[in-house]
Amino acid sequence: MTSGPEEIARAVRQLRGGGLVAFPTETVYGLGAIARDVRAVERVFAIKGRPSTNPLIVHVSGEEMARTLTLSWNEHASKLARAFWPGPLTMVLARASGVPAIVSGGGATVAIRCPAHPLTLALIEMVGEGVVGPSANRSGHVSPTSAAHVEDEFREEVASGELMVLDGGACRAGIESTVVSLVDGAPMVLRPGVIGASEIAAVLGERVDERGGDESA
Ligand code: AMP
Ligand code: MG
Repeated sequence: MTSGPEEIARAVRQLRGGGLVAFPTETVYGLGAIARDVRAVERVFAIKGRPSTNPLIVHVSGEEMARTLTLSWNEHASKLARAFWPGPLTMVLARASGVPAIVSGGGATVAIRCPAHPLTLALIEMVGEGVVGPSANRSGHVSPTSAAHVEDEFREEVASGELMVLDGGACRAGIESTVVSLVDGAPMVLRPGVIGASEIAAVLGERVDERGGDESA
């Protein structure tokens, strides 16, 4: 059954208490922790078995929250947010000091996106700050597109109460968000996804190149 307001309120308490919450998005289910909570973010890496050098995407409820996570919000970012958020576009920008380095695999940038799922938008809005959300599967396993799939994957963590799973129904299977870098000169697609480089170029009115290769886990 799809989660309602009571589960969302419980999920907010779970995150604020340092716990993890799996949440639905329009792409796949994410494994959520408050981005500012270093210990909780460490647990996300640990239970996924994800290398600490593979950066996490921070999920926000909109542009206002996104601005708090970066030193370099700019006109490009505003245009793309207006055109594609909520939706499967992740923007890489300079990381604000309030975002722990562990979130970005130690790097100076941060990846930010606003997911298009009402349950998750409500959750992030109520939490009031950015929430990391790599796919809710152990590294090397298939990304989950249902709450049951997440529960199967993380049975122990759910049983112990460390992880709560919000049920938002089935996701549109498989396809991940497009990752575009807006740092260091011309915009560049770092990971292809639902939104094409040409669509991004059309919104920005300039050329957008695409770099191949993806090391996501
Ligand atoms: P996922 O595994 O779907 O959570 O996606 C995370 C992916 O987003 C990473 O594997 C990178 O490809 C990309 N990503 C996240 N943060 C950054 C960043 N700061 N700079 C560049 N790419 C990033
Ligand atoms: Mg993944």
